[in-house]
Amino acid sequence: MKTIIEPFRIKSVEPIRFTTREERETLLDQAHLNTFLLRSEDVLIDLLTDSGTGAMSARQWSAMLRGDESYAGSPSFERFEAAVRNLANFKHIIPTHQGRAAEAILFSILGGEGKKIPNNTHFDTTRGNVENTGAEAVDLVVAEGLDPNDLSDFKGNIDLVRLEQFMRDNAADVPCVMTTITNNAGGGQPVSLANIRATAEIAHRYDKPFIIDGCRFAENAYFIKQREAGQQDRSITDIVRDTFACADGMTMSAKKDGLVNIGGWLALNDDDLALKARSRLIMTEGFPTYGGLAGRDLEAIAQGLTEVVDEDYLRYRVRTNEYIIERLDRLGVPVVKPAGGHAVFIDARAWLPHVAPLQYPGQTVACALYVAGGIRTTEIGTVMFGRQPDGTERPAPMDLVRLAIPRRTYTQSHADYIVEVFEELAREVDQMRGLTIVEEPPTMRHFTAKFARL
Ligand SMILES: *Cc1c(COP(=O)(O)O)cnc(C)c1O
Repeated sequence: MKTIIEPFRIKSVEPIRFTTREERETLLDQAHLNTFLLRSEDVLIDLLTDSGTGAMSARQWSAMLRGDESYAGSPSFERFEAAVRNLANFKHIIPTHQGRAAEAILFSILGGEGKKIPNNTHFDTTRGNVENTGAEAVDLVVAEGLDPNDLSDFKGNIDLVRLEQFMRDNAADVPCVMTTITNNAGGGQPVSLANIRATAEIAHRYDKPFIIDGCRFAENAYFIKQREAGQQDRSITDIVRDTFACADGMTMSAKKDGLVNIGGWLALNDDDLALKARSRLIMTEGFPTYGGLAGRDLEAIAQGLTEVVDEDYLRYRVRTNEYIIERLDRLGVPVVKPAGGHAVFIDARAWLPHVAPLQYPGQTVACALYVAGGIRTTEIGTVMFGRQPDGTERPAPMDLVRLAIPRRTYTQSHADYIVEVFEELAREVDQMRGLTIVEEPPTMRHFTAKFARL
């Protein structure tokens, strides 16, 4: 069969409120042309992020009722710990309220002035937590990872030649080596098992712990199964186990491949590091058997981890992205290829050549998608990265629009609708005009900046 149907039926529904184009024009003006400032009830299809926006299963909801809310020694923690260990067999599993809390704890121990932390690409919260300690976050992704038209299989790989060179020159200042699977900031592109193993080998040769930012470990394993030689007959679970077996620890946002709305963890093998991490955890998150989560949240994660490695689910998830990308490509809308795990990216700079980067083509397209179809997306480009520390402005390397796909939330008809909205926009693309910023905060301006049309 050609159609990959959603591998679930729907037991509980959340209504979508329909709006007219005229209403959306007014609503967007009231939100100062910033999609972050829209109310979610005014959005038809919300593709702002895939983080914590997925649907839980009936089994997860029922597991939540069994949550034991004891302060210490809860069996919900034991079930959570066992579920994590089943996939990622680290000695110490430390729950946190989300991924960035795990990062903050890790770098409060490993970071500091003069330290340097290499990664394929640091996600923005990882970079923020590294830099907050005075350390430097260094991105060493392969060159293909920066080219939206390159069709390589593993565009999230670390450039091993540059990593080796970097370690030769800086090993004394490097507290750990990281890799992010999939490479979120690089479009959700996967990292191969061979690259993960080679990165671990380099880290260990220099006697450094190798830490995986594992937010999308199941999507990464699915790509490995599809694309890496020799992996086709293996189960997702086996590939995931091999992935984490190379590492000395991990940080995790369960809001992604934990299939829950909140949660995360830090895992470590080293006893001394874990001791320090738990002391910090007690100050900032909570006791080590709940770490900023309710017992019921730990239960939902434990169940989610058994569901996320299901191949039918992963096939449906990745196929949805591929399907949208194939159809947009046929419409002549420039998209980043090949499809990543969690989102579809539009190359707005290429689609709107008449809108200069400093007139924010990505934000322009995000606004047009909302007005034409009620679709909420986010710009990843000059609005997000263009402002320099000295207050001047420079075009970002790319002006993209991200359509992040929540897990198990939307169906094929929603995907078809998204494509239809693009069909309509393709007819008016020449008339789209850029934007200017009328008000912005000093940092992270994309969340709250106010825009006006040129
Ligand atoms: C989301 C994410 C984080 C941060 O996790 P939160 O749960 O949002 O704090 C870290 N790294 C990557 C790769 C992510 O996608």
